[in-house]
Amino acid sequence: MAEMPPAAGLYLHIPFCRSKCAYCDFYSMTDTSLIPRFVTALCNEINQYEEEFLEFDTIYLGGGTPSLLSLEEIESIMEAIWRAFTILPDAEITIEINPADRGRSELAELNDLGINRISIGVQSFDDRELLFMGRRHTAEQAAQTLEDAHGAGFVNIGLDLIYGLPDQTVRRWQSSLGEALRFDPSHLSCYELEIKPCTPLGRRLKRGDFASQNEDTQRDFFVRTSELLEEAGFVHYEVSNFARGMERASRHNQKYWDHTPYLGLGPSAHSFRGARRWWNHESLDDYLHALENGMLPKCGSETINRDELRMEALFLGLRTRKGIDMQQFKNRHGIDLMEIKGSELREWSRAGLIEIEGSHIRPTRSGMIVADALALF
Ligand code: SF4
Repeated sequence: MAEMPPAAGLYLHIPFCRSKCAYCDFYSMTDTSLIPRFVTALCNEINQYEEEFLEFDTIYLGGGTPSLLSLEEIESIMEAIWRAFTILPDAEITIEINPADRGRSELAELNDLGINRISIGVQSFDDRELLFMGRRHTAEQAAQTLEDAHGAGFVNIGLDLIYGLPDQTVRRWQSSLGEALRFDPSHLSCYELEIKPCTPLGRRLKRGDFASQNEDTQRDFFVRTSELLEEAGFVHYEVSNFARGMERASRHNQKYWDHTPYLGLGPSAHSFRGARRWWNHESLDDYLHALENGMLPKCGSETINRDELRMEALFLGLRTRKGIDMQQFKNRHGIDLMEIKGSELREWSRAGLIEIEGSHIRPTRSGMIVADALALF
């Protein structure tokens, strides 16, 4: 019997932010006067994909800052989605929220719209760190939003944190993590601060205003984060992601890691199906211009060949605790990993970087630190 294709994921990119964070190099704009035009264009784009994808079981409103949209605007986007697509009844529907953008009653209204998962961009519970990163909220506001999310009836609550700031100690980071755990989140994403040259922090780093953390300290941050959260009952299921049991892992993000099809709408969003990947204009102007003139806002596409798909599967698989099922890998990609890379795999296993169990390989905590390098073998 033919295998049923897995349900796809739907991503909507909302490209507005009230202000730019000092470390951010994502495309977003602070002029919010274009939001009404953008919402109309996005609904138009949704309609143009009607019947192109069979069904979805995850929806993710990300950005940018989706919480800058009014409830009415979010409602009209959700209505366009329900009209155009088949959304499975148990779909995971996530929205990213910036602390202080929404009060409890508005969060409850988001819940009423069918949004059942909330991801809050807390980043730190230390006001000096928030100031350094150019965040526009305080630790107290983040705490209030977390309380409000619980009060509004959300049970699936995630938060994002950033570690490895210049002169941050592992001890101070642990206290941010401890504070996060007080709010009983079901999911935590913990990212190392990456300072890109084109950002305000990148320019300050170049001027010598501060020095970045060295590799050994970054490693300490990573290991301590993983140990502390596993002790607290979380599963370290991807390099930067932790869930209170796999049932709370982000179903949407897992689609990116296992080559499940996804449709990305909005400026700069990427889509993937089969061996094809395509993406939209990054600039909001180009995006609006295309849709307002009856065209899809696609600006590029590529067909991924068998070798590239295999490399990606390795790269992505070695970043997740689920790892790689070598039998499945052979069926999909025509390569027996044990046959061609057995000696390397056994060597990594001896070095404690991976575990081999039957036909399964999965990275250990130490392996996750060097996951990118492992995938290049
Ligand atoms: S809120 Fe997010 S997308 Fe917007 S500037 Fe800050 S980090 Fe970037």
